[in-house]
Amino acid sequence: MAVQVSRLVMKSSRSICVPRFLAFRNMSVVSAKTLLYKEYGEPAKVLEFSTDQVIKPEGNQVLVKWLLSPVNPADINTIQGKYPSKPPLPAVPGNEGVGEVIEVGSSVQNLKIGDRVVPNVNHLGTWRTQGSYNSEDLMKIPKEIGTVEASMLNVNPCTAFRMLKDFVSLKPGDTVIQNGGNSAVGQLVIQLCKVWNHTNISVVRDRPQISELKSQLKKLGATEVLTEEELRKTDLFKSKKLPQPKLALNCVGGQNALEVLRQLGSGGVMVTYGGMAREPVTVPTSALIFKDLSVRGFWMTAWSKKNHNAKERTEMFEELAKLFQEKKLHAPPYKIVPFSEYQEVIVNALRIDGKQGVKYILDMEKN
Ligand code: NDP
Repeated sequence: MAVQVSRLVMKSSRSICVPRFLAFRNMSVVSAKTLLYKEYGEPAKVLEFSTDQVIKPEGNQVLVKWLLSPVNPADINTIQGKYPSKPPLPAVPGNEGVGEVIEVGSSVQNLKIGDRVVPNVNHLGTWRTQGSYNSEDLMKIPKEIGTVEASMLNVNPCTAFRMLKDFVSLKPGDTVIQNGGNSAVGQLVIQLCKVWNHTNISVVRDRPQISELKSQLKKLGATEVLTEEELRKTDLFKSKKLPQPKLALNCVGGQNALEVLRQLGSGGVMVTYGGMAREPVTVPTSALIFKDLSVRGFWMTAWSKKNHNAKERTEMFEELAKLFQEKKLHAPPYKIVPFSEYQEVIVNALRIDGKQGVKYILDMEKN
Protein backbone atom coordinates (compact mmCIF):
# COMPACT_ATOMS: atom_id res chain seq x y z
CA MET A 1 0.00 0.00 0.00
CA ALA A 2 2.77 2.43 0.93
CA VAL A 3 4.32 2.12 -2.54
CA GLN A 4 0.96 2.69 -4.18
CA VAL A 5 0.39 5.80 -2.09
CA SER A 6 3.83 7.21 -2.76
CA ARG A 7 3.23 7.03 -6.48
CA LEU A 8 0.03 8.98 -6.09
CA VAL A 9 1.55 11.64 -3.88
CA MET A 10 0.69 15.20 -4.91
CA LYS A 11 2.97 18.11 -4.22
CA SER A 12 1.36 21.31 -3.14
CA SER A 13 4.02 23.95 -2.41
CA ARG A 14 6.57 21.25 -1.53
CA SER A 15 4.48 19.58 1.18
CA ILE A 16 3.65 16.00 0.36
CA CYS A 17 -0.09 15.17 0.34
CA VAL A 18 -2.25 12.29 -0.86
CA PRO A 19 -5.42 12.62 -2.90
CA ARG A 20 -8.50 12.65 -0.66
CA PHE A 21 -9.95 9.44 -2.16
CA LEU A 22 -6.94 7.49 -0.87
CA ALA A 23 -7.17 8.83 2.64
CA PHE A 24 -9.19 6.02 4.05
CA ARG A 25 -9.17 4.92 7.68
CA ASN A 26 -6.11 2.70 8.05
CA MET A 27 -3.75 4.76 5.90
CA SER A 28 -0.82 6.71 7.33
CA VAL A 29 -2.14 10.19 6.83
CA VAL A 30 -2.94 13.18 8.99
CA SER A 31 -5.36 15.99 8.26
CA ALA A 32 -4.02 19.51 7.82
CA LYS A 33 -5.90 22.76 7.40
CA THR A 34 -4.38 24.63 4.50
CA LEU A 35 -4.84 27.96 2.76
CA LEU A 36 -4.67 27.41 -0.95
CA TYR A 37 -4.90 29.40 -4.18
CA LYS A 38 -5.61 27.77 -7.50
CA GLU A 39 -5.16 30.93 -9.58
CA TYR A 40 -3.27 34.19 -9.10
CA GLY A 41 -5.40 37.15 -8.03
CA GLU A 42 -6.46 39.32 -5.11
CA PRO A 43 -5.90 37.26 -1.92
CA ALA A 44 -9.38 37.96 -0.54
CA LYS A 45 -10.85 36.35 -3.69
CA VAL A 46 -8.48 33.51 -4.52
CA LEU A 47 -7.52 32.15 -1.10
CA GLU A 48 -9.61 29.31 0.26
CA PHE A 49 -9.31 26.86 3.13
CA SER A 50 -8.88 23.21 2.26
CA THR A 51 -8.31 20.07 4.31
CA ASP A 52 -5.27 18.18 3.06
CA GLN A 53 -4.44 14.60 3.82
CA VAL A 54 -0.73 14.79 4.59
CA ILE A 55 1.19 11.55 4.22
CA LYS A 56 3.09 10.46 7.33
CA PRO A 57 6.84 10.75 6.80
CA GLU A 58 8.74 7.96 5.11
CA GLY A 59 12.47 7.72 4.32
CA ASN A 60 13.95 11.21 4.33
CA GLN A 61 10.70 13.04 5.13
CA VAL A 62 9.62 14.83 8.29
CA LEU A 63 6.19 15.91 9.48
CA VAL A 64 6.09 19.47 10.77
CA LYS A 65 3.46 21.24 12.85
CA TRP A 66 3.59 24.93 11.94
CA LEU A 67 3.39 27.28 14.93
CA LEU A 68 3.63 30.80 13.53
CA SER A 69 3.71 32.07 9.94
CA PRO A 70 4.31 35.78 9.21
CA VAL A 71 2.69 37.69 6.37
CA ASN A 72 5.14 39.72 4.29
CA PRO A 73 4.44 42.15 1.42
CA ALA A 74 6.06 39.57 -0.90
CA ASP A 75 3.51 36.88 0.14
CA ILE A 76 0.68 39.13 -1.02
CA ASN A 77 2.46 39.99 -4.28
CA THR A 78 3.12 36.27 -4.88
CA ILE A 79 -0.59 35.42 -4.52
CA GLN A 80 -1.41 38.30 -6.86
CA GLY A 81 0.99 36.79 -9.43
CA LYS A 82 2.98 40.04 -9.37
CA TYR A 83 6.10 38.59 -7.77
CA PRO A 84 8.92 37.46 -10.06
CA SER A 85 9.17 34.00 -8.50
CA LYS A 86 5.90 32.17 -9.07
CA PRO A 87 5.16 28.85 -7.37
CA PRO A 88 3.34 26.29 -9.51
CA LEU A 89 -0.44 26.22 -8.89
CA PRO A 90 -2.26 25.16 -6.81
CA ALA A 91 -0.04 26.75 -4.19
CA VAL A 92 0.04 27.25 -0.45
CA PRO A 93 1.27 30.74 0.49
CA GLY A 94 3.89 31.47 3.10
CA ASN A 95 7.60 31.81 2.68
CA GLU A 96 8.48 32.05 6.36
CA GLY A 97 7.43 30.38 9.58
CA VAL A 98 8.53 28.36 12.53
CA GLY A 99 7.44 24.80 13.12
CA GLU A 100 8.06 21.78 15.31
CA VAL A 101 9.07 18.39 13.97
CA ILE A 102 6.45 15.89 15.12
CA GLU A 103 7.44 12.76 13.14
CA VAL A 104 10.50 11.69 11.19
CA GLY A 105 11.10 9.09 8.47
CA SER A 106 13.50 6.22 9.10
CA SER A 107 16.47 7.70 7.20
CA VAL A 108 16.34 11.27 8.49
CA GLN A 109 19.72 12.26 9.93
CA ASN A 110 19.58 16.02 10.48
CA LEU A 111 16.33 16.38 12.47
CA LYS A 112 14.53 14.68 15.34
CA ILE A 113 11.10 14.91 16.96
CA GLY A 114 10.74 18.15 18.95
CA ASP A 115 13.25 20.15 16.88
CA ARG A 116 12.31 23.72 15.94
CA VAL A 117 12.61 24.36 12.21
CA VAL A 118 12.31 27.16 9.66
CA PRO A 119 12.14 26.82 5.87
CA ASN A 120 15.43 26.17 4.12
CA VAL A 121 14.01 26.86 0.64
CA ASN A 122 11.73 29.48 -0.92
CA HIS A 123 7.96 29.00 -1.26
CA LEU A 124 7.77 26.15 1.24
CA GLY A 125 4.10 27.02 1.85
CA THR A 126 3.81 27.67 5.58
CA TRP A 127 0.19 28.84 5.77
CA ARG A 128 -0.94 25.36 6.79
CA THR A 129 -1.25 23.60 10.12
CA GLN A 130 0.99 20.64 9.20
CA GLY A 131 3.08 19.50 6.28
CA SER A 132 5.35 16.63 5.31
CA TYR A 133 8.65 17.73 3.75
CA ASN A 134 11.99 16.42 2.61
CA SER A 135 14.25 16.99 5.61
CA GLU A 136 16.76 19.12 3.67
CA ASP A 137 13.99 21.65 2.91
CA LEU A 138 14.01 22.58 6.62
CA MET A 139 16.65 24.12 8.83
CA LYS A 140 16.98 23.38 12.55
CA ILE A 141 17.21 26.46 14.74
CA PRO A 142 17.97 26.80 18.47
CA LYS A 143 14.88 26.65 20.69
CA GLU A 144 16.24 29.59 22.69
CA ILE A 145 15.33 32.01 19.87
CA GLY A 146 11.84 33.30 20.67
CA THR A 147 9.06 31.74 18.58
CA VAL A 148 8.12 35.09 17.04
CA GLU A 149 11.73 35.93 16.20
CA ALA A 150 12.25 32.46 14.72
CA SER A 151 9.14 32.78 12.56
CA MET A 152 10.63 35.91 10.95
CA LEU A 153 14.21 34.71 10.65
CA ASN A 154 14.38 33.90 6.95
CA VAL A 155 13.48 37.11 5.18
CA ASN A 156 13.85 40.44 6.96
CA PRO A 157 16.86 39.83 9.26
CA CYS A 158 18.74 38.13 6.42
CA THR A 159 17.91 40.98 4.02
CA ALA A 160 19.18 43.58 6.51
CA PHE A 161 22.30 41.48 7.22
CA ARG A 162 23.25 40.96 3.56
CA MET A 163 22.66 44.55 2.51
CA LEU A 164 24.97 45.81 5.27
CA LYS A 165 27.67 43.22 4.46
CA ASP A 166 27.74 42.74 0.71
CA PHE A 167 27.84 46.12 -1.05
CA VAL A 168 30.25 48.37 0.85
CA SER A 169 33.00 47.43 3.24
CA LEU A 170 31.72 49.32 6.28
CA LYS A 171 33.96 50.14 9.22
CA PRO A 172 32.81 51.13 12.70
CA GLY A 173 31.68 54.75 12.60
CA ASP A 174 30.70 54.69 8.89
CA THR A 175 27.26 56.04 8.09
CA VAL A 176 24.34 54.11 6.61
CA ILE A 177 21.23 56.03 5.53
CA GLN A 178 17.91 54.34 4.82
CA ASN A 179 14.29 55.16 4.08
CA GLY A 180 11.39 53.07 5.38
CA GLY A 181 13.25 53.29 8.70
CA ASN A 182 10.28 51.91 10.62
CA SER A 183 9.67 48.99 8.25
CA ALA A 184 10.47 45.53 9.56
CA VAL A 185 13.65 45.42 7.48
CA GLY A 186 14.47 49.01 8.48
CA GLN A 187 14.26 48.22 12.18
CA LEU A 188 16.59 45.27 11.74
CA VAL A 189 19.03 47.45 9.80
CA ILE A 190 19.00 49.91 12.72
CA GLN A 191 19.69 47.15 15.25
CA LEU A 192 22.48 45.57 13.18
CA CYS A 193 24.07 49.01 12.70
CA LYS A 194 24.11 49.35 16.47
CA VAL A 195 25.68 45.90 16.91
CA TRP A 196 28.36 46.67 14.29
CA ASN A 197 28.88 50.30 15.43
CA HIS A 198 27.69 52.00 12.25
CA THR A 199 26.03 55.40 12.33
CA ASN A 200 22.42 54.98 11.21
CA ILE A 201 20.24 57.70 9.71
CA SER A 202 16.66 56.54 9.26
CA VAL A 203 14.10 58.39 7.18
CA VAL A 204 10.40 57.90 7.95
CA ARG A 205 7.12 59.39 6.79
CA ASP A 206 5.72 62.18 8.93
CA ARG A 207 2.73 61.33 11.16
CA PRO A 208 0.92 62.79 14.17
CA GLN A 209 2.99 60.77 16.68
CA ILE A 210 6.31 61.40 14.97
CA SER A 211 8.26 62.16 18.17
CA GLU A 212 7.12 58.82 19.62
CA LEU A 213 8.32 56.97 16.52
CA LYS A 214 11.62 58.88 16.53
CA SER A 215 12.35 57.95 20.12
CA GLN A 216 11.38 54.31 19.50
CA LEU A 217 13.81 54.04 16.59
CA LYS A 218 16.56 55.88 18.49
CA LYS A 219 16.07 53.46 21.35
CA LEU A 220 16.65 50.62 18.87
CA GLY A 221 19.92 52.24 17.83
CA ALA A 222 19.25 54.86 15.15
CA THR A 223 21.63 57.82 15.43
CA GLU A 224 19.16 60.24 13.82
CA VAL A 225 15.60 59.83 12.58
CA LEU A 226 14.40 62.34 9.99
CA THR A 227 11.11 62.83 8.22
CA GLU A 228 11.23 63.09 4.42
CA GLU A 229 10.83 66.88 4.77
CA GLU A 230 13.63 67.15 7.35
CA LEU A 231 15.94 65.10 5.14
CA ARG A 232 15.56 67.65 2.35
CA LYS A 233 16.78 70.45 4.63
CA THR A 234 19.29 68.61 6.79
CA ASP A 235 22.81 69.95 7.22
CA LEU A 236 23.94 66.94 9.28
CA PHE A 237 26.47 65.99 6.61
CA LYS A 238 27.34 69.41 5.13
CA SER A 239 28.16 70.66 8.61
CA LYS A 240 30.32 67.55 9.07
CA LYS A 241 28.45 66.70 12.26
CA LEU A 242 28.25 63.19 10.82
CA PRO A 243 30.31 61.53 8.06
CA GLN A 244 28.53 61.39 4.70
CA PRO A 245 26.85 58.00 4.17
CA LYS A 246 28.74 55.31 2.29
CA LEU A 247 25.65 53.15 1.90
CA ALA A 248 22.00 54.04 1.27
CA LEU A 249 19.20 51.46 1.52
CA ASN A 250 16.00 52.22 -0.37
CA CYS A 251 12.66 50.42 -0.08
CA VAL A 252 10.51 53.38 -1.17
CA GLY A 253 11.61 54.85 -4.53
CA GLY A 254 10.46 58.11 -6.16
CA GLN A 255 11.40 61.51 -4.69
CA ASN A 256 12.17 59.97 -1.31
CA ALA A 257 14.87 57.72 -2.82
CA LEU A 258 16.32 60.68 -4.71
CA GLU A 259 16.67 62.72 -1.51
CA VAL A 260 18.36 59.77 0.20
CA LEU A 261 20.72 59.28 -2.76
CA ARG A 262 21.70 62.99 -2.65
CA GLN A 263 23.17 62.52 0.84
CA LEU A 264 25.66 59.84 -0.25
CA GLY A 265 29.34 60.68 -0.25
CA SER A 266 31.53 60.20 -3.37
CA GLY A 267 31.73 56.57 -4.43
CA GLY A 268 28.69 55.72 -2.27
CA VAL A 269 26.27 52.93 -3.12
CA MET A 270 22.48 52.95 -3.04
CA VAL A 271 20.84 49.54 -2.78
CA THR A 272 17.17 49.31 -3.73
CA TYR A 273 15.29 46.38 -2.23
CA GLY A 274 11.66 47.54 -2.31
CA GLY A 275 9.39 49.96 -4.11
CA MET A 276 6.71 50.88 -1.56
CA ALA A 277 5.86 54.22 -3.24
CA ARG A 278 5.45 52.46 -6.60
CA GLU A 279 7.50 55.16 -8.29
CA PRO A 280 10.75 54.68 -10.21
CA VAL A 281 14.18 55.44 -8.84
CA THR A 282 15.72 58.38 -10.67
CA VAL A 283 19.40 59.18 -10.60
CA PRO A 284 20.73 62.64 -11.49
CA THR A 285 23.38 62.52 -14.20
CA SER A 286 25.72 64.61 -12.01
CA ALA A 287 25.55 61.99 -9.23
CA LEU A 288 26.97 59.43 -11.63
CA ILE A 289 29.60 61.68 -13.23
CA PHE A 290 30.84 63.83 -10.37
CA LYS A 291 30.22 61.56 -7.39
CA ASP A 292 30.61 58.17 -9.08
CA LEU A 293 27.66 56.79 -7.15
CA SER A 294 26.57 53.20 -7.78
CA VAL A 295 22.95 52.16 -7.92
CA ARG A 296 22.39 48.51 -7.12
CA GLY A 297 19.54 46.17 -6.27
CA PHE A 298 19.13 43.30 -3.84
CA TRP A 299 16.74 40.35 -3.75
CA MET A 300 17.01 37.91 -0.86
CA THR A 301 15.32 35.12 -2.84
CA ALA A 302 18.00 35.22 -5.53
CA TRP A 303 20.80 35.46 -2.97
CA SER A 304 19.48 32.43 -1.06
CA LYS A 305 19.16 30.36 -4.23
CA LYS A 306 22.67 31.23 -5.36
CA ASN A 307 24.23 30.72 -1.93
CA HIS A 308 22.13 27.81 -0.70
CA ASN A 309 25.10 25.72 0.36
CA ALA A 310 27.56 28.54 0.89
CA LYS A 311 29.48 29.01 4.12
CA GLU A 312 28.27 32.64 4.22
CA ARG A 313 24.66 31.48 4.51
CA THR A 314 25.32 29.15 7.43
CA GLU A 315 27.44 31.81 9.16
CA MET A 316 24.72 34.40 8.65
CA PHE A 317 22.06 32.19 10.29
CA GLU A 318 24.42 31.34 13.15
CA GLU A 319 25.22 35.01 13.78
CA LEU A 320 21.59 36.12 13.56
CA ALA A 321 20.44 33.30 15.86
CA LYS A 322 23.11 34.28 18.38
CA LEU A 323 22.11 37.96 18.26
CA PHE A 324 18.44 37.07 18.82
CA GLN A 325 19.38 34.75 21.70
CA GLU A 326 21.51 37.48 23.27
CA LYS A 327 18.56 39.91 22.85
CA LYS A 328 20.72 42.22 20.78
CA LEU A 329 18.13 41.83 18.01
CA HIS A 330 14.40 42.08 18.59
CA ALA A 331 11.49 41.33 16.30
CA PRO A 332 9.76 44.42 14.89
CA PRO A 333 6.33 45.22 16.43
CA TYR A 334 3.87 42.48 15.49
CA LYS A 335 0.29 41.37 15.89
CA ILE A 336 -0.58 37.69 16.13
CA VAL A 337 -3.86 36.77 14.45
CA PRO A 338 -5.54 33.32 14.55
CA PHE A 339 -5.05 31.37 11.30
CA SER A 340 -8.83 31.10 11.06
CA GLU A 341 -9.04 34.92 10.86
CA TYR A 342 -6.49 35.35 8.08
CA GLN A 343 -8.86 37.73 6.24
CA GLU A 344 -8.04 40.51 8.72
CA VAL A 345 -4.40 40.21 7.77
CA ILE A 346 -5.04 40.16 4.05
CA VAL A 347 -7.21 43.28 4.19
CA ASN A 348 -4.62 45.18 6.23
CA ALA A 349 -1.68 43.97 4.18
CA LEU A 350 -3.36 45.38 1.08
CA ARG A 351 -3.79 48.86 2.54
CA ILE A 352 -1.51 50.88 0.31
CA ASP A 353 -1.30 53.88 2.63
CA GLY A 354 0.87 51.84 5.02
CA LYS A 355 1.25 53.34 8.51
CA GLN A 356 0.21 50.10 10.18
CA GLY A 357 3.38 49.81 12.21
CA VAL A 358 3.00 46.09 12.86
CA LYS A 359 3.96 42.89 11.15
CA TYR A 360 1.12 40.37 11.02
CA ILE A 361 1.80 36.80 12.09
CA LEU A 362 -0.65 33.91 11.71
CA ASP A 363 -1.05 31.67 14.75
CA MET A 364 -1.37 28.29 13.06
CA GLU A 365 -2.53 26.54 16.22
CA LYS A 366 -5.65 28.73 16.36
CA ASN A 367 -7.32 27.35 13.32
P1 NDP B 1 6.72 46.56 6.35
O1 NDP B 1 5.31 46.27 6.00
O2 NDP B 1 7.25 46.24 7.70
O3 NDP B 1 6.99 48.12 6.13
C1 NDP B 1 6.59 48.82 5.00
C2 NDP B 1 7.27 50.19 5.06
O4 NDP B 1 7.04 50.89 3.86
C3 NDP B 1 6.82 51.05 6.21
O5 NDP B 1 7.96 51.63 6.79
C4 NDP B 1 6.00 52.14 5.51
O6 NDP B 1 6.08 53.36 6.17
C5 NDP B 1 6.73 52.23 4.18
N1 NDP B 1 5.90 52.77 3.12
C6 NDP B 1 4.80 52.23 2.58
N2 NDP B 1 4.33 53.01 1.59
C7 NDP B 1 5.18 54.07 1.53
C8 NDP B 1 5.23 55.24 0.71
N3 NDP B 1 4.34 55.45 -0.24
N4 NDP B 1 6.22 56.12 0.93
C9 NDP B 1 7.14 55.93 1.90
N5 NDP B 1 7.14 54.82 2.69
C10 NDP B 1 6.17 53.92 2.50
O7 NDP B 1 7.57 45.90 5.21
P2 NDP B 1 8.89 45.00 5.21
O8 NDP B 1 9.94 45.57 6.07
O9 NDP B 1 8.51 43.59 5.37
O10 NDP B 1 9.32 45.25 3.70
C11 NDP B 1 9.69 46.55 3.27
C12 NDP B 1 9.93 46.51 1.77
O11 NDP B 1 11.05 45.71 1.53
C13 NDP B 1 8.78 45.91 0.97
O12 NDP B 1 8.73 46.58 -0.25
C14 NDP B 1 9.24 44.49 0.76
O13 NDP B 1 8.66 43.92 -0.39
C15 NDP B 1 10.72 44.72 0.60
N6 NDP B 1 11.54 43.56 0.90
C16 NDP B 1 12.41 43.18 -0.06
C17 NDP B 1 13.25 42.12 0.14
C18 NDP B 1 14.21 41.78 -0.92
O14 NDP B 1 14.83 40.71 -0.85
N7 NDP B 1 14.40 42.61 -1.93
C19 NDP B 1 13.19 41.30 1.35
C20 NDP B 1 12.27 41.83 2.36
C21 NDP B 1 11.47 42.92 2.12
P3 NDP B 1 4.90 53.86 7.12
O15 NDP B 1 5.14 53.26 8.46
O16 NDP B 1 5.06 55.33 7.10
O17 NDP B 1 3.62 53.39 6.52
